[in-house]
Amino acid sequence: MSKNIVVVGSSNSDLIIKADRIPKPGETIMGGKFYKAAGGKGANQAVAAARAGGDVSFVACIGNDVFGEEALKGFRKDNINTDHVYVDKDEASGTALILIDKNGENSIAVASGANLRLNEIKLLKAKETISNSSVLLMQLETPMATVESAANIAYSNKVKVILNPAPAQPLSDELLKKLTILTPNETEAEMLTGVVVNDLDGAQKAAELLLKKGVEIVIITLGTKGAYFATDKESHLVKGFKVEAQDTTAAGDTFNGALAVAVSEGKSIVDAIKFANAAAAISVTKIGAQPSAPKRDEIDQLYNQ
Ligand code: ADP
Repeated sequence: MSKNIVVVGSSNSDLIIKADRIPKPGETIMGGKFYKAAGGKGANQAVAAARAGGDVSFVACIGNDVFGEEALKGFRKDNINTDHVYVDKDEASGTALILIDKNGENSIAVASGANLRLNEIKLLKAKETISNSSVLLMQLETPMATVESAANIAYSNKVKVILNPAPAQPLSDELLKKLTILTPNETEAEMLTGVVVNDLDGAQKAAELLLKKGVEIVIITLGTKGAYFATDKESHLVKGFKVEAQDTTAAGDTFNGALAVAVSEGKSIVDAIKFANAAAAISVTKIGAQPSAPKRDEIDQLYNQ
């Protein structure tokens, strides 16, 4: 069986200003500090999977601009296959403008730009890559029709489909039936099921509803607690690792990237979640989204403890 992973999803540039406070409409404030970081859930997960040891192809759409070029360079540096990263000549690369105040509160505006141009026509060019992979990993920052199409291609070729339903939005019954693994966090699980998920009882109830819809394995990530999983036959919490958290941005993305690698390697579901918990725990000890995704040896060290 192939061990290749294909990620279909978004790429963004995060333009961040840390300032004393977030300005009011019409107001200008000075004295902030600027950072630029590569982001987008698709790109974050592709990078996390590649660093965790996966052989990763990324299917995405960027703009014909300097942000897109820089993103592409970053993917190549992480040995990600970019044959299906398309450049749209009319739209700008996906961009997030992020303001963070001194208490860590933020205010974010996202222009999805070229991510919304990842249509079915472009996706079909990657049909063979998807069909020949062992795992397809997706999120919801690109058009739903593309997500559904990719799931169909994977499903009919017996490729495992992992969907991280973020940002949360309703999913069709047709799509849910094709999912090997669905990985909501607490908020997303609640949005998908209407069940409040803030303890194991809630997680169990939400997972049962999603299993009934035809999802094979439901994994609800629970922050520091780790992740709860449920199948037809078994369900329990796989505890997280205790670490000194610095920045939990993209913990879920690192979790999903590492999970895809473990699944592609044939690890049992419990071991795969343990591996993903280890990768995500290391990522929260470092600042930033893509910069914080750990390499394989670091993950193995914590995993084997
Ligand atoms: P999201 O980032 O999508 O909101 P979670 O907060 O549930 O998702 O985190 C995803 C995973 O990251 C968790 O299942 C856990 O493995 C890991 N994680 C998150 N926060 C911490 C933390 N403070 N310490 C250790 N692991 C963490």
